[in-house]
Amino acid sequence: MHCSDTFGSGKAYDSMNESVQKTALLALEINFDSSRDFGFSTIFINDGSFSDTRLTEEELHDVITQSKALGVREIIFSGKEVLSYISLKELISFARNLDLETALLKDDYLCLATSGKNDPPFCVRHRFSCIITSYGYVLPCPGLEIPLGNVRSQKLADIIKDSEILSDLKDPINKIKGPCRYCENIGICCGCRGRAYLVTGDYLASDLMCIKNKSVEHDTVSLPLPVDGIIPQKPPMCIIDTLDTLAERSASCSALIKKDMPFIEDDGSVDNVAYLEMIAQSIAALNGFRNMNESGASPEGYLLGAKNLVILGRATEGDRLSIMVFKYARYGGFGIVKGIVSKNNQVLARGEIKVWHKIDESD
Ligand code: SF4
Ligand code: SF4
Repeated sequence: MHCSDTFGSGKAYDSMNESVQKTALLALEINFDSSRDFGFSTIFINDGSFSDTRLTEEELHDVITQSKALGVREIIFSGKEVLSYISLKELISFARNLDLETALLKDDYLCLATSGKNDPPFCVRHRFSCIITSYGYVLPCPGLEIPLGNVRSQKLADIIKDSEILSDLKDPINKIKGPCRYCENIGICCGCRGRAYLVTGDYLASDLMCIKNKSVEHDTVSLPLPVDGIIPQKPPMCIIDTLDTLAERSASCSALIKKDMPFIEDDGSVDNVAYLEMIAQSIAALNGFRNMNESGASPEGYLLGAKNLVILGRATEGDRLSIMVFKYARYGGFGIVKGIVSKNNQVLARGEIKVWHKIDESD
């Protein structure tokens, strides 16, 4: 059985519109596979208040209770290690006592994203379900391994409500890029998001592995992507080069320090203000990339201020810097963004900026 078969367009489809509208869930999968390395995606999610250990039975009960309050009707227990989970029976009884249906998927359950198959997936499960790993990370689905949050540091309802990725995935007709968007099946199939992400780094790209896309001409946008055209700054004020990775309300970019760029001191070192500008431009790249499909332009925005800037090192001409940014909080068009600038995994600067950007319907 593939992940697309589990929650295909048949089961729970009658209630899907209701789920989309209410930002609710109809089904929840709890996956018991080993802890995975999600890379930079968890840097801003892990607040240090929990360690990388499995959720306790009590924590799992809490998650199931929270999911019931969100509208979940069925809990699926999955993963190669599900049968070795010592309290599995008790967990199933707990769910059933809450009038939830349960299902058990063992090692015969395969993820379509890594199966090598090129069938149309006919999968729309992001509209009404998500996964929680036994380590507490919430993921959109088995093949789209981007943590949206962790239930140890946030309520499940808040993770779902705040997730830009889920919000995008629930609106495929407006958000998917390329040929899948114009496919006659878009109402019942939005491409395998896992396959699209693995191939392009963009969870909203078309599923180019689908056999229906083999004969279609298309321009594929893949990450890393030069930021020209997706951020408002033009040379020489554009001081970052590429948008490299997307994650939940976060992104990583890179910048090569050049002699002729602004904010360079006489000795070739980078002025501290450049780090703030890199953080601001990186968040503009994230917003511009999300917005690409709709207007082709990056949303208008301004840097309003900065705080908690900590300088831990210096960069000079020729250095390749990595900039990681995270939308920490938002109030209407105003937002607080956390950023980290590093070189070869050594943090040079971290801080927060306050930004304003024009909000559109996708926000
Ligand atoms: S989008 Fe792909 S990986 Fe995700 S559940 Fe559907 S078929 Fe599986
Ligand atoms: S082209 Fe895209 S939307 Fe159409 S069937 Fe294939 S994966 Fe689904």
